[in-house]
Amino acid sequence: MPSSEPTSHVRNLTGGTLLALAAAIVCLTVALLLHAKLNQQIDLQVLLLGGSGLALALVAALMSWRKARRLIRPISELIDSAERIGNGNYTHPLEVTGRHELAPLEEALEQMRQKLRQTTINTNYLSTVLNSMNDTVLVTSPDGEIRKINAAAERLLGYKEEELRGKMLSDLLLPGNPPEPHDRAPRTVDLQETVIRTASGQTIPVSISGSQIAAADPSFQGAIYVLRDITERKRAERRIRYLARFDSLTKLPNRMQFQHMLQQAIARARRADCLVALLYLDLDRFKEINDTFGHEAGDRTLEILSERLTRALPKEAVLGRLAGDEFAVFIEGIEPQEDERATTAALARIVLAEISKTFYVGQHELYLTASIGVAFCPRDADNVIDLIRHADAAMYHSKQSSGNTFAFYSPDMDAAAVERLMLKAKLRRALERDELVMLYQPKVDLRSGLVVGGEALLRWRLPGYGDISPSQFIPLAEETSLILSIGDWVMNRVCDDYKRWLKSLSNPGRISINLSLKQLKQSSFVTRCRAIFMQHELSPTSFELEITETTLMQNPKRTIKLLDELFAMGLTLSIDDFGTGYSSLSSLQQFPISTLKIDQSFVKGIVDDRDDATIVRTIIDMGKSMEMEVVAEGVETKSQLDYLKSHNCHYAQGRLFGDAMSADAFLAIMVAQSQGKVALASLFG
Ligand code: C2E
Ligand code: MG
Ligand code: MG
Repeated sequence: MPSSEPTSHVRNLTGGTLLALAAAIVCLTVALLLHAKLNQQIDLQVLLLGGSGLALALVAALMSWRKARRLIRPISELIDSAERIGNGNYTHPLEVTGRHELAPLEEALEQMRQKLRQTTINTNYLSTVLNSMNDTVLVTSPDGEIRKINAAAERLLGYKEEELRGKMLSDLLLPGNPPEPHDRAPRTVDLQETVIRTASGQTIPVSISGSQIAAADPSFQGAIYVLRDITERKRAERRIRYLARFDSLTKLPNRMQFQHMLQQAIARARRADCLVALLYLDLDRFKEINDTFGHEAGDRTLEILSERLTRALPKEAVLGRLAGDEFAVFIEGIEPQEDERATTAALARIVLAEISKTFYVGQHELYLTASIGVAFCPRDADNVIDLIRHADAAMYHSKQSSGNTFAFYSPDMDAAAVERLMLKAKLRRALERDELVMLYQPKVDLRSGLVVGGEALLRWRLPGYGDISPSQFIPLAEETSLILSIGDWVMNRVCDDYKRWLKSLSNPGRISINLSLKQLKQSSFVTRCRAIFMQHELSPTSFELEITETTLMQNPKRTIKLLDELFAMGLTLSIDDFGTGYSSLSSLQQFPISTLKIDQSFVKGIVDDRDDATIVRTIIDMGKSMEMEVVAEGVETKSQLDYLKSHNCHYAQGRLFGDAMSADAFLAIMVAQSQGKVALASLFG
């Protein structure tokens, strides 16, 4: 070992010198004696004396050499140990013998070794901990000069520690990102986001937090920063932000984003003194596409439509999807001197033309139309919410006037649209708040004048609004799946009431229940229906289901199958509002229908209107020829009754016999009748 060289040098030097010295003395003495003997200057005695002296001198020299050696060995061992420690090797303890003068020095050196060993263990431990961290750690001087980094930092930044030592932390940050290169006194950096540039030039978003190193020794002062790669989190955030602002199906701005963009456009228009035009668009009868061809086909249609409109509209127009089949377009920068109506009408025509082109979806060719409402900012409204509301009101106006058209907003359109929106919002809570009420309208046999049953008619008793007719809220409920819950509620309520009537009456007659198209479309309808009757332990033969003519003709094949199942269950089926649809009677024959209900609009005119009278008479005759029972709805006068009786109409309902009434009132009529008190005796003479 080269390190032990100087020590052995000292040892060899000391021992060698002593031996050489003794040998020199011996040689010198022998030479002197021989010289004197040869010259006859000394006799034998003297020679012997000289020899003894020489031996003594030799022994003395040897003894002193040995003593010197005993002293030098511990010194050289101490030197060895000190050199080992100096070289960072603290593992071997020093042997403290206590047998010589150097023992205190040995002890002091051993203590020093132990302290140094502990410090080294601590330092190594800290390094191991730092290097095991997933987070990037950078230690800087008070000026921000990098002093130490951990292994994670090397991995993230792509630099070795030696390469970064002496560089500034700010050199790693992308310009303009926090923390700003700090002054001499390092501050604590609260957790914030920044962007760093790696050795390969890649930029990585990181979170950074820093704190001051509190050390008394100025050479240890500075700051320690912890950086964490947040690339994944940023990506997720971007995705969430995208999903929150864009419709995932059509990739168009959603309602939130559209409103935000419109808001900005309105602000710009205000500054530039220009107009913003908003076109609110709702597809006509889009529900039918979903119901008939399935939601996938519906979705694909919306996608195609979005692509078409994006391509056809001018670049400056902004298109958004606000809800299911509701879209909106706005265009800004319309100059005050410009004919804004002409500009916008051209835009609306482009939209309608694109919608009217055939949609090829799977095997199907689909046709669509839309209703558009237009409102201008600031003329019609000066804020986003009102502008959308007014364009929406104009849209309803177009829809009511047959659809496939556009209309400009005018103040008188507003009330109806607002009311409709309000009702839709409140309807969701109607079930929870128990605001629905079931009423019953008696059905009378025109041959006997007896009440033979009734029609269950729903009311929405909305506080502050009175009773709302189902004609107003059933279409709203049909736009959502709310109609299904309402439908279930109706069936259960009718069964409950019927059950109660049975306690006072052996036969409360047959009760008819109105069904909406959406209810009939649910795949589980028959099963649910059967389950409800079973649950209430009631026979389906006590009930009748009313289905409108238009509902029946939606998807005849499927409907026949469905109605066959309901008929087999024992239910009576009737066609409601007959005469308002376009079905041919022969097409009706395929259904297991046993009752035709003549729509009240024809009944109204039977006395005064020859056409109405002819229609009603023909329906009665047709029904009879098909062995169907015929019911006339909305009978209000004695002359209407007489006309119906004279033409052998079987049954009738209407105010003349009793309006829709509570379950208790209906029960009272039926109980009285069962006791022989015929309420309508005067009408039937
Ligand atoms: P609908 O089945 O044709 O019901 C007859 C409507 O005529 C009822 O209106 C009834 O109150 C009304 N009416 C009865 N007598 C007269 C009269 O003498 N003159 C006049 N002008 N009208 C009379 P309502 O109760 O407003 O029901 C409207 C429609 O709502 C019903 O027409 C039916 O299609 C639907 N509907 C009623 N209840 C339900 C229900 O529980 N579920 C479903 N899905 N639809 C229902
Ligand atoms: Mg009805
Ligand atoms: Mg009806």
